[in-house]
Amino acid sequence: MTFAVHGLAVARGVAIGRAVLVAGGIDVDHYFIEPSQVEAEIERIRAGRDVVVDELHRLQQTLASMGPREAPQELSALLDVHLLLLQDQELIEGVKHWIRERLYNAEWALTTQLEQLSRQFDEMEDAYLRERKADLEQVAERVLRAMRGVGSPVAPPPQRRKSSQDLLLDASVDVPLVLVAHDLSPADMLQFKQSVFAGFVTDVGGKTSHTAIVARSMDIPAVVGARSASQLVRQDDWVIIDGDAGVMIVDPSPIILAEYGFKQRQAELERGRLARLRHTPAITLDGQKIELLANIELPEDAPAAVAAGAVGVGLFRSEFLFMNRRGRLPDEDEQYAAYRRAVDGMQGLPVTIRTIDVGADKPLDDDQPRDEAHLNPALGLRAIRWSLADPAMFLTQLRAILRAAAHGQVHLLVPMLAHASEIRQTLALIDTARAELDARGVAYGPVKLGAMIEIPAAALTLRTFLAHFDFLSIGTNDLIQYTLAIDRADESVAHLYDPLHPAVLQLVAQTIAAATAAGKPVSVCGEMAGDTSLTRLLLGLGLRSFSMHPAQILAVKQEVLRADAQRLAPWAQQVLQAEEPAALLAPASGQAA
Ligand code: PEP
Ligand code: MG
Repeated sequence: MTFAVHGLAVARGVAIGRAVLVAGGIDVDHYFIEPSQVEAEIERIRAGRDVVVDELHRLQQTLASMGPREAPQELSALLDVHLLLLQDQELIEGVKHWIRERLYNAEWALTTQLEQLSRQFDEMEDAYLRERKADLEQVAERVLRAMRGVGSPVAPPPQRRKSSQDLLLDASVDVPLVLVAHDLSPADMLQFKQSVFAGFVTDVGGKTSHTAIVARSMDIPAVVGARSASQLVRQDDWVIIDGDAGVMIVDPSPIILAEYGFKQRQAELERGRLARLRHTPAITLDGQKIELLANIELPEDAPAAVAAGAVGVGLFRSEFLFMNRRGRLPDEDEQYAAYRRAVDGMQGLPVTIRTIDVGADKPLDDDQPRDEAHLNPALGLRAIRWSLADPAMFLTQLRAILRAAAHGQVHLLVPMLAHASEIRQTLALIDTARAELDARGVAYGPVKLGAMIEIPAAALTLRTFLAHFDFLSIGTNDLIQYTLAIDRADESVAHLYDPLHPAVLQLVAQTIAAATAAGKPVSVCGEMAGDTSLTRLLLGLGLRSFSMHPAQILAVKQEVLRADAQRLAPWAQQVLQAEEPAALLAPASGQAA
């Protein structure tokens, strides 16, 4: 039966494929293996199962040697049930199926099959049988625990990831796959970044949550905040993701499939058309040169930025280098190598490296998916606050960035500053990092220093920022969150997250105006920069530098080429004064991002 699940549109386009459910219950790694690793992976899970069978047999023997008072009958019966479940053909064959047919790693295959079987248990009439679901979960958890001890025949993730190209070439994965999950952290998304998935749907998340941002950077259709999507969809269901409308259609009829197939082809044509603008300079009708920069998460994203015609990186979110490290953070040399790869990858174009911004909805590891220890993590120890609380870690990063600057144009950008004291401490630490490199005789290069304007307090004290920094970058994602008191990752208040709120526009406009008057470069690197429906407004407010996901650059360039910045200026002032600015905004001539 066809039905639709509604959520928030975060990355445009249409994806049609089979649903891959990532179970939220048991936390395991999800990655694809090579076809040559299939038998080893099956062997790994068999070894895990053997360990558990031995454990259970030993427990049975211990029980047998006890008296009936210490060893209740139920316990022995329970062990029998667990042993039986371990022999269950549906479980065993199902796991092999996911490994062989989908190239899932063993843990993922087991949790996927567990999920399938759990649903069958849920549908059972017999209460006794229904309750066996808990036994099945316990058995699966035992096997997963045992597998940790068994070790892995291949290198640990993310090196175990396959590139999408490899997988697409691989005949065993010939059906497009669409990922459906309750929640995916940015660290999860990083693991999936180079995978086969044609689209994503999550139950939770807001439009500018970091999970949504990574989905957008992958340039594949995505819907977040779809509430109970992961409960309504079953493993392997055919689904359509309409990333423009924020809808997932489950089990579509042939007519709907045909309609979306047509939409997909239209989008392809539009992409082809936009690709012709790659080498066209971004200049408005009245001759204003506009800088279109790329936001990247990893050095490996640099080629896509160059290919999209970016004239530099306006935001390298360095925190992604620190994720999925299981507590072992990258040292100076590793970071230096990564920053250098980004610099080299940009072929002489400038690279703006933002110092680490973790906390809130960007935990370092999936083992602690969300900061639940603090009531308001978005207002807590995040970004520069985190860095200043751990000067040794911060100095390591600063030294690595300064060293990379010896190889190309590097700008250093600091997130979440609000206080003059934070500015002072940050600048002092940058001096210390230079002095440490001098003392070691290590080469480093000059950097331009920039501050993110993403807290209203910063936007209201621009004089201080302009006195200390070479450039400003407006982080509208957080600026909106903190101005409107809306958690950007919370879908229940997503309707109030409004880039066009007059207060937000005032702060953005003031920042652009103050920086321009001071003769200092200013850009927008939040999601507003890549939203084509806002390009003309930002141009009218005087913005000349936009930083966005590479996939958005050509559509924004199209808007720039059609705009007359001088004529847009008085209109932008009207928008700024309006009670409901959205009413004055005509739809973009291109597609919204
Ligand atoms: C922003 O807040 O707009 C921004 C670019 O930073 P991030 O999205 O990484 O918080
Ligand atoms: Mg931010």
